Amino acid sequence: MQSQTNVQQNSDAVVCANGVNMFRCMVFGAAFAIGLTVGVSPGIAQEASTSGATTSAESPSGNANSAVVFMYHRFAETDYPSTNIRGPQFEAHIRELTNGKYTVMGVPEIIDAMQNGKGLPDYAIGITVDDAYRSVYDVAWPAFKKHNLPMTIFVSSEQVDAGYENYMTWDMLREMVKDGVTIGGHSQHHSHLPSLSVEEVKAELAHSARRFKEELGFVPDIFAYPYGEASDDVIAAVKEAGYKAAFGQQSGAVSTESDIMYLPRFAMNENYGEMDRFTLAANSLPLPVSDVTPPNYTLERNPPAFGFTLKEKTGDVACYPSEGEPTMNRLGEERVEIRLDAPVSSGRWRINCTSMGPNGRWRWFGMLYTVP
Ligand SMILES: [Zn+2]
Repeated sequence: MQSQTNVQQNSDAVVCANGVNMFRCMVFGAAFAIGLTVGVSPGIAQEASTSGATTSAESPSGNANSAVVFMYHRFAETDYPSTNIRGPQFEAHIRELTNGKYTVMGVPEIIDAMQNGKGLPDYAIGITVDDAYRSVYDVAWPAFKKHNLPMTIFVSSEQVDAGYENYMTWDMLREMVKDGVTIGGHSQHHSHLPSLSVEEVKAELAHSARRFKEELGFVPDIFAYPYGEASDDVIAAVKEAGYKAAFGQQSGAVSTESDIMYLPRFAMNENYGEMDRFTLAANSLPLPVSDVTPPNYTLERNPPAFGFTLKEKTGDVACYPSEGEPTMNRLGEERVEIRLDAPVSSGRWRINCTSMGPNGRWRWFGMLYTVP
């Protein structure tokens, strides 16, 4: 028996203890997150209410410009709480997604709508699963299929080629493709791509593309960065390899304002998979921003000088970094700047910024930086 690769997607998981500020906990999924509310323009961002019935199920079009994409890894594998969702949590998610409020769409359709200016239904949802764990085949897909919920799996080809018993086989993947599952690329070795040379990144992408072609008969055109880690060079290589869109692992709603090569997703695992956080995420809206610094998703300067410009009139904004004692400044109405008192640890540094939007829905902007 071959040994398992130990792939920890969410090693920055922090358990949310009961009794701590649960909203902060839910926003960031971290008990130590620090809220920074600025006192400019108090109150709630006023917007025309998007009242009225959501678009009918037959037509996945509408007037909204955003969607929420969830990311799972393992299902009912309780030995891996940072990447697993427990059975009862998963069942509750499916009940919520099928209660008539949401339109669960295929991720390719959501991307098509983003890229081609097509409207989306309000409360549009996409479902993604990273890595080809066997529990996706045994647990997730039977449930999603039963409820007609489309799913996209991001596969690192070597995880399947190695033949580990906890991973799916190419036969299983072929069966799922036949059933309508979308396959996305996820490199060959599930590598920390920003730490590789450009040539090595290209080799990862080329090898996995060849294996997809050989085993499935096609090469996927959407991608997810392993661990959500990207850099300018990695993104350029992914684009050059033919991928038309790619996901990170930062929280937030995807929108026409998003970087199509670094789209946000909400991670679901045992710590962050309870219904209060799930519904908060499912109902979230984008917080439209521009001129984000640092612009490169791999930090070149530490501590990071994080900032962004709000593109719309926005009330209070609160930001929650995964690490560091932050000082937040709001320059005029539009610019938000955050400084940290000390460098952050190598690995991944996340920051989530939220503002109350219409109808009790949180506007959300999250970033994940790879820290060398
Ligand atoms: Zn992965």
